[in-house]
Amino acid sequence: MPVRKALGEVRLAGLSAGLPSRLVGLVLLWHIAGCASQVSEPPAAKRASGIYHVVKPGENLFRIGKAYDLSYAELARVNRLRDSSRIRVGQRLFIPGAVRQLPVETITPNDSVQALPAAPETNEPARGGFVWPIAGGVSSHFGPRGSSFHDGIDIAAEEGTPIMAIEKGEVIYSDRLRGYGNLVILRHAGGLVSVYGHNHANLVRQGQLVSQGEVIAKVGSTGRVSGPHLHLEIRQNNVAQDPLLYLPGLCCRQSLDEVAPKS
Ligand SMILES: [Zn+2]
Repeated sequence: MPVRKALGEVRLAGLSAGLPSRLVGLVLLWHIAGCASQVSEPPAAKRASGIYHVVKPGENLFRIGKAYDLSYAELARVNRLRDSSRIRVGQRLFIPGAVRQLPVETITPNDSVQALPAAPETNEPARGGFVWPIAGGVSSHFGPRGSSFHDGIDIAAEEGTPIMAIEKGEVIYSDRLRGYGNLVILRHAGGLVSVYGHNHANLVRQGQLVSQGEVIAKVGSTGRVSGPHLHLEIRQNNVAQDPLLYLPGLCCRQSLDEVAPKS
């Protein structure tokens, strides 16, 4: 059965011309936050009262903070989030000082995300079955990075290293994108999407079905980078997750010099 059929059609309405319509919302959502730095507003002064914001698909702590003029660090502190990089759809976050729930800029139209399966109750990822796209050290981790938020991990590798699909899926984007350079996006079962950025070259085309381990691109340094590496994102129902929680073997180490398995 085609992947598209299995997942159900996801359509993003009202999008500008020139980009594949089903993807634009997803892609725009990410393009600001790839490897690039974002400058956040200084945290607002402490305020006593506030409201609860219910997390919707496509939102992360950084963007929620922007909507309420609070830094993600402040939100994480106030809500006692151990891992500020992981919030889930439906989670309630206390927003000090706010008087009503405000829209968070995600660009993805709501009707498209509602077509996706509901987020799981648990915060635990559906680990299993993925392979590393390349062998290499993790040079930058998922989560807050300075005043910005890194929606994926960076895996250092030599220019031209073949990049493999972490799981079978459908190519839903294969083109250049500002900041990301040459970018490939795969859609997998279960509302999961994987993103491969800064490629030297993309070797697949949109609509193509790929198997796990199939070479889809080559490592490069296109887009906003300082050297060749793979920027990898894994998204569940359009919410960026820490790829290390999905990829085998390295989930629980704290060290910054992790090395992916050679297999
Ligand atoms: Zn990156």
